[in-house]
Amino acid sequence: MKRYFIAGNWKMYKTIPEAVELASELKKELADCKEKLMIAPPFTALHSVAQVIKGSNILLGAQNMGPEESGAHTGEISVLMLKDIGVRVIILGHSERRHTYGESDALINTKVRLALKHDLEVILCVGETLEEREQGVLENVIRRQLAEGLIGVDASMLPNVTIAYEPVWAIGTGKTATPEDADSVHAFCRRVIAELYGSDIAKNLVIQYGGSVKPENVVALMTKKNVDGALVGGASLKAESFVPIAKFR
Ligand code: PEP
Repeated sequence: MKRYFIAGNWKMYKTIPEAVELASELKKELADCKEKLMIAPPFTALHSVAQVIKGSNILLGAQNMGPEESGAHTGEISVLMLKDIGVRVIILGHSERRHTYGESDALINTKVRLALKHDLEVILCVGETLEEREQGVLENVIRRQLAEGLIGVDASMLPNVTIAYEPVWAIGTGKTATPEDADSVHAFCRRVIAELYGSDIAKNLVIQYGGSVKPENVVALMTKKNVDGALVGGASLKAESFVPIAKFR
């Protein structure tokens, strides 16, 4: 049976006590959940949350990382530091990193390769802006973000890569892509990956949808053929909304 990958991105929310409280609730309430689960607290709460979820079925994720292993990079966090703390998955190329902090495909690619080199899993986010969608260049944008984000990534590494399709206009806006729209862009992502890596790898690729996923719309989205999970922002900040998303079936 298909195992969905449900991930929570806590963004720049939660002090350490708040993060510990939420992680403790999730650990208890999701103990019997069979899906693959991940939560990505802010950097400051990673260590404390790691202690809470140790030995549970929830993986620890980070929301970003620096492009170098170490060195004079004021303000950056290294892959080695994240591994040290127990991080297993890194979200890279989130639209807030691309659009608010100007991260390029080349920079994201450097980070993707570095994380994979250190045996971490990567969630590579892709997605078009409203303007790009309206200009009819959605497919060009997604193709570029996938192809350039994965330059130099060997096929043997693809089991450690999840793609998150997150239309920028749907993130934190309350607007969700229709399940049909999401399914068709996911199918397109799979076609691009098939061109790059062959159809077997594309078939097994996990593609999450992200963009205002809530308990009320999760079933319609997850039951689409090409949707294999969710990357959840706002609704991951409370157990009362994240638990029903993770336990949607
Ligand atoms: C996200 O941050 O990846 C996201 C999808 O946010 P939201 O669920 O709030 O739209």
